[in-house]
Amino acid sequence: MNLHEFQAKHLLAERGVSIPRGYVARSGAEARAAIGRLGGDAWVIKAQVHAGGRGKAGGVKVLNNEDEAADFADSLLGQRLVTKQTDAAGQPIEAVMIEEGLAIERELYLSMLIDRARQRVVCIASAAGGMDIEEVAATAPEQIITIEVHPSAGLQPYQGRQVGFALGLDKRQVGELTAMLQSFYQLFIERDLSLIEINPLVVDSAGSLICLDAKITVDDNAIEVGKQQQLAAMRDLSQEDATEVRAAEHQLNYITLDGNIGCMVNGAGLAMATMDIIQVYGGAPANFLDVGGGTSAAKVTEAFKIILSSPRVEGILVNIFGGIVRCDMIAEGIIAAVREVEINVPVVVRLEGTNVEEGKQLLADSGLDLIPAADLAYAAERVVAAVEQRRP
Ligand code: ADP
Ligand code: MG
Repeated sequence: MNLHEFQAKHLLAERGVSIPRGYVARSGAEARAAIGRLGGDAWVIKAQVHAGGRGKAGGVKVLNNEDEAADFADSLLGQRLVTKQTDAAGQPIEAVMIEEGLAIERELYLSMLIDRARQRVVCIASAAGGMDIEEVAATAPEQIITIEVHPSAGLQPYQGRQVGFALGLDKRQVGELTAMLQSFYQLFIERDLSLIEINPLVVDSAGSLICLDAKITVDDNAIEVGKQQQLAAMRDLSQEDATEVRAAEHQLNYITLDGNIGCMVNGAGLAMATMDIIQVYGGAPANFLDVGGGTSAAKVTEAFKIILSSPRVEGILVNIFGGIVRCDMIAEGIIAAVREVEINVPVVVRLEGTNVEEGKQLLADSGLDLIPAADLAYAAERVVAAVEQRRP
């Protein structure tokens, strides 16, 4: 689960980490009031969306005139922001941050995340802040410093100094950075985070280190088991994929992808294999969907509706291996869904396992226009071909 910049900064400030002074506004009037309260002569207006790259996309602007700043904040609210990290529709802007404009001397990069290969929390830093860290990693990997935290020792002060000196900071700044990293690490562990990313971390004209941007991701597992209630309350569903939210309400593991073939599968491994084989036959999956082991006909119906709610879907591949789940029950779900929802794309069904004959019989007797397939490769080939055939 991602947090908004203002929420992330709030968590950081609670730990004594330096952030610019600022306020959140949800209307033009609130923005104007915030500008007045901040005073000064430079204001930064920042769209609050769950996506980076806002600056380049026109979602962050530094202004030196109160009216212009208030007008710009007002103009962002209610719009959608498209950045290179969003899809073409972009993310809705329901809040903006109004911050004091800082005089920036240097822009650095700092993050903390879990390195799965090393099985450790690692801290990544670079003097090349403000740019995409992926680009720095690709073009100038020597500019990236990585330290790993031993889980029983925790983050050590010497590691903070190591990062600080590598970034070319002076003695006072190294002290600030060391304290900052220790605050990050405590926050990371106590709040079950999977990412803290500060890009940029800046040195201001007074030589102080300040987190100018902040991204925090919370481990979804912690939220699901109810461990992080305060963070869970910060969830903003308007920033999430509506279809994924709806699927989660029905306990369906669904992820929107950008292909054209909808997949309904039971079991995450089989779902992955199904997506792969669709690619092998020249198609592209429109989603990942695991309907789960103990599924019901009603859930299958809902899954169908969710898949079909995407305008991208030009064909559907149902691939069910009935181990715990019975094929006849899946067939009932498919039939109910097809009767309920208007389906105008080809549907290929591959059923295997418990009660497969009963399942196939139900589908055959239904009189519905479903394409049966005996094995997975054939099913993938059929669905890709059926979609191709329909193309003008
Ligand atoms: P994003 O990463 O989504 O583009 P940032 O918060 O990093 O958004 O802002 C983009 C750029 O805007 C920063 O790299 C910085 O140059 C400038 N900026 C952001 N906040 C401030 C601020 N408070 N004062 C001065 N400049 C700022
Ligand atoms: Mg940034």
